[in-house]
Amino acid sequence: MDGRINGMMCRQIERAFKVITIFLTIAVFASTARGDLSGWRIGIDPGHGGTDPGAVGPTGLQEKEVNLTASLGMRYFLVRQNAEVFMTRTTDVTLSLSSRANFMNSNDVDRSICVHHNSSSNPDPNWHLTYVAEGTGWATSGDLAFDISHRVTDFNGLGFGWSNCGREGVYEENFYMLIYTYMPSVLPEISFISNPLEEQRLYHDRYCYGNGRGMYEGIMDHLGGWGGDAGEVEGHALEIAQLPTEFKLHQSYPNPFNAQTVIPLELPQRSMVKIELFNVSGRNLGTICEGIKEAGWPKVHYNAAHLASGLYFYKVVVEGLEQGGSFMDTGKMLLLK
Ligand SMILES: [Zn+2]
Repeated sequence: MDGRINGMMCRQIERAFKVITIFLTIAVFASTARGDLSGWRIGIDPGHGGTDPGAVGPTGLQEKEVNLTASLGMRYFLVRQNAEVFMTRTTDVTLSLSSRANFMNSNDVDRSICVHHNSSSNPDPNWHLTYVAEGTGWATSGDLAFDISHRVTDFNGLGFGWSNCGREGVYEENFYMLIYTYMPSVLPEISFISNPLEEQRLYHDRYCYGNGRGMYEGIMDHLGGWGGDAGEVEGHALEIAQLPTEFKLHQSYPNPFNAQTVIPLELPQRSMVKIELFNVSGRNLGTICEGIKEAGWPKVHYNAAHLASGLYFYKVVVEGLEQGGSFMDTGKMLLLK
């Protein structure tokens, strides 16, 4: 405890110098350095590794791999904004939890981010949460967790699991890395590798890099005073977090369903999307969704509670709004009540 309090006092003094440095930096480079992370030390711990695969997806994708890919994506962007980044591992090696926590503490990082993907024995769940230690959901850790959760879900289109501290996207749980590190620490569970469709997305490095970019953007909101203007970094963000290369419609899930379903799309560019519903005799039952969607992996949620059990078809028509082009496809789904 004493060591911790002394540590905190030192940290406050250090922090004061850091703040002064950052103010000077901002003052000198006011026009170009907005969002600059010079002076900030960020620790990244890609969960699991080596003999510990972490969770394993339905077709065998290992959590340790996607944790590392997303972490490397996050590091890429942080370094571009001049942060000093410390990673517990950059390859597939076995590390104990205590060595990971010691790494964060001995490098005296300002923020610790432990990257994980979630898992369930039920294939359906797929949401995002960022964990913090008990009692810190509204402290600095909670602030960072909140920003990371919002940016990651802006990118991957997932919703949040429920919060136990009344803060959307934030969940308090005393995981080892959250209580044995001395600095504000968060543990994002990016998405569920146990969900078959999510596992397919996670196979793509560029999707994992995109989640890494989301975490980076959360850090920028939290530390860099960036607050949502992506213009300055969007150019190099896209170099790595590439978007889908073609329009695609995926099978809705769950299928069969009752009565909520999700229709996943891939959009290489900002697009006008219209999805209509038909019954087996080809009658148009109405529009499921119509509007502009950003490039990425949007999911369209649909509730068919008002329909009778049976087979239905969903027809998707997409018009690209940036490079043009169009796409049309049809899927089927079985409503069982
Ligand atoms: Zn994990």
